[in-house]
Amino acid sequence: MAKYTQASCRLCRRDGMKLFLKGERCYTDKCAIERRAYGPGQHGQRSGRKPTEYAVQLREKQKVKRIYGVLERQFRRYFGMAERMKGITGENLLQLLERRFDNMVYRMGFATSRMEARHLVRHGHFMVNGKKNNIPSYVLKQGDVVQVKEKARKSVWLKEAYESIDRHGVPEWVQVNKDKFEGVIAQYPARDQLTMPVNEQLIVELYSK
Ligand code: SF4
Repeated sequence: MAKYTQASCRLCRRDGMKLFLKGERCYTDKCAIERRAYGPGQHGQRSGRKPTEYAVQLREKQKVKRIYGVLERQFRRYFGMAERMKGITGENLLQLLERRFDNMVYRMGFATSRMEARHLVRHGHFMVNGKKNNIPSYVLKQGDVVQVKEKARKSVWLKEAYESIDRHGVPEWVQVNKDKFEGVIAQYPARDQLTMPVNEQLIVELYSK
């Protein structure tokens, strides 16, 4: 399966913001954005020309793709689904991305980053509604229950992830029962519950050209 191969922190520095791609490190002063808040590479510190409208829209799309670890073809597919749904296309798009299985594992605090969550899902450490599921892109519905498989419950990665949610919490639209090793989407997230600084309207404008 295709994936991003660039160093994660480089992607954050390119977008000029924390994308939280590396788990716990992102919350410490080792974060590259804390230490070098300018673009990567030889010309990273140049202020440069004012970007065109197209460049701004494109950068926003790249940023969202990187946050969720989704490549172009799949991202287009989500956009098509978002357009066909009732409501505002941009918000539908973000909601669909949030409902991805790997993202939900991360949001529920069973992994410290989306990248780690994807890896764990692929290795079959979780069930959805009591059934094995190892598809990171699977889109969950309201009320779906994600559960850590029995044999993974004593693993080091889960212990570390639980320590991380104790520090950072879980979103209010997700319910987690750590003792039962399960989480559920209590409701779909409203736009104001998605706090990443993203302007999804720019992506809608880009794809509408
Ligand atoms: Fe981005 Fe995390 Fe690296 Fe900071 S530590 S630059 S937030 S991936």
